Amino acid sequence: MKKCLYTLKLEELMETLSLEKKFQARIVRDNLVKGVTDFQDMTSLSKEMRKRLGDNALTTEVTATEKSDSAVKLAIRLSDGLAVECVRLSDGKDRHTACLSSQVGCAMGCAFCKTGTMGLKRNLDAGEIIEQYVHLLKLGEDISHIVFMGMGEPLNNFGPLMEAIQILHNPEMFNISYRKITISTSGFVPGIHKLTELGFPIKLAVSLVTANDEKRSRIMRINRTYPLSQLRRAILSFQHHENKRVTLEYCMLKDYNMGAEDAEELKKFLQGMDALVNLIPWNPIEGMSFKSPDDNDIRLFTNELKKLGISYSIRRSKGRDISGACGQLASEVD
Ligand code: SAH
Ligand code: SF4
Repeated sequence: MKKCLYTLKLEELMETLSLEKKFQARIVRDNLVKGVTDFQDMTSLSKEMRKRLGDNALTTEVTATEKSDSAVKLAIRLSDGLAVECVRLSDGKDRHTACLSSQVGCAMGCAFCKTGTMGLKRNLDAGEIIEQYVHLLKLGEDISHIVFMGMGEPLNNFGPLMEAIQILHNPEMFNISYRKITISTSGFVPGIHKLTELGFPIKLAVSLVTANDEKRSRIMRINRTYPLSQLRRAILSFQHHENKRVTLEYCMLKDYNMGAEDAEELKKFLQGMDALVNLIPWNPIEGMSFKSPDDNDIRLFTNELKKLGISYSIRRSKGRDISGACGQLASEVD
């Protein structure tokens, strides 16, 4: 089976590609991190060498591309035939963000999320995570930010996730600052603690959805194992060590988590925490009985938040029209 070249050290790259000199491996690596993945395009290698190396350096391939004004979604086929999706989001001001998947499917089964309906097929390895970024880079723009908000629960695949992040961060590789990398978790408390212990200044986002234990347990199974009190402590401890604002993602479900009481409970959860609440209107998914809030519902809820002095932003999901928005990622190829 083909090896992912992005996870190899220079010496290993030399061995895998049977290169004689380190400088040749360096040329290959410098091309790879720029998104040049066809050996034939690595023009500073000799013709003979290019011929010997063949064409494509990647282990995964893009099978479908969908575009909207602000998002491009790629379907990626892995070497075993499974598929994941990743999205490049653009803000119209030349800032591009890669939204990457960490698993094929997800074990968490949150009731409002399409990925959750797939169950967990398997974890991605570090190379498969990085290659998503590379495919997005090959679209032709610099991508300065990375969010792990695609398929899967990133903290349930901790080792490969951190290996990938370190390669993305490595100044000799992709050179992306930890501060521009966000991990979004549904609240896997042991994973948040591990992240805190590691001490990398990565940003944390937590999909809170509701600050009411009973409501949360009903739609997010993870809350039955790690209830809000434990989640709150884990977030505070992360914050204490990293001294950084966390994001709480709040998927707005009409008639479920948008009342005055919900705002009050949210206020309590936020006590002593430096957090921005990111409100995401629920993206409809066929077969699910939740309702999306309309503008009026959102206005009423944000009025409650304002009254309580809660900082929030509203994420108008980019890529909704191409099913590239939050919680809409689910691969159709098995
Ligand atoms: N598993 C991780 C990261 C992927 S989900 C997590 O849960 O945080 C990314 C975000 O999409 C989460 O904040 C989740 O709450 C949100 N989400 C899931 N389904 C959604 C939907 N149908 N509409 C809007 N947001 C959704
Ligand atoms: Fe998994 Fe996140 Fe979807 Fe929940 S919201 S099922 S954790 S991907």
